[in-house]
Amino acid sequence: MKKVELHMHTMPVSICARVTNEQAVKRYKEHGYQGLMLTNHYTDACCQVNGISREKWMELYIAQLYEFEKVCADNGMDGYWGVEVSLFAPYSQVMTSKYDMDFLKRNYADYLLIGADEKFLRETPYICDLDQKDLYALCQQYGILLIQAHPMRACQGHTLRDIKYLDGVEINTNFGHMVLRGEVSHEQELLQIAKENDLIVTVGGDIHGDHPEWDMLCGATYFPDEVKTSRDIAEHLRKVRVPQYEITFPEGYH
Ligand SMILES: [Zn+2]
Ligand SMILES: [Zn+2]
Repeated sequence: MKKVELHMHTMPVSICARVTNEQAVKRYKEHGYQGLMLTNHYTDACCQVNGISREKWMELYIAQLYEFEKVCADNGMDGYWGVEVSLFAPYSQVMTSKYDMDFLKRNYADYLLIGADEKFLRETPYICDLDQKDLYALCQQYGILLIQAHPMRACQGHTLRDIKYLDGVEINTNFGHMVLRGEVSHEQELLQIAKENDLIVTVGGDIHGDHPEWDMLCGATYFPDEVKTSRDIAEHLRKVRVPQYEITFPEGYH
């Protein structure tokens, strides 16, 4: 089995990330991971901050995924293509001109897209302009899984979205949110919801840098050795629903 991270960010595409592809891959390698899915933010924030067009940004987004894949391969690891898209982001200038803040706060969510590839990124419309139902339909058309990231992370206003338009939910293992913001993993609640609704469960660190608390590597999902691509990951998850995983918080946390 391969030890895999399914949720991580690198700079410059994720403007909140503090590590390059190279630094992130080396760190995970030292911690025994064999596969990593890069899930950079797909939002308007990067265009707004850098004053670049959506087209230019998409080129950067794709180029960073290719570079990531190469850095992983150079380190003897698998690099998988992923995406984390924000819908109804209250910090997006585009969104705040279209909706009122209350509406945005009620609908805001981040979604991980597992099974994404270059074809999907190039052929689809700017996906953070879609609503959840349309995004889900598009993902189904391309064979991509739509997983809600950290659906119960209250400090950022996340709540579980409509499970009719979701393939799965993530148990988030970002330790910084626990230490500094009092969050919990909601592991048992999410497993229960998944069981009742036949949803997939993933585990992800949402790692952005190498801060000793924020970015402590506390979670992993395990995949069979034959898994090589994001699409293979999606297929395995579709089959098993709840994959083998581990959560290793320091004592006193859950
Ligand atoms: Zn971020
Ligand atoms: Zn994230």
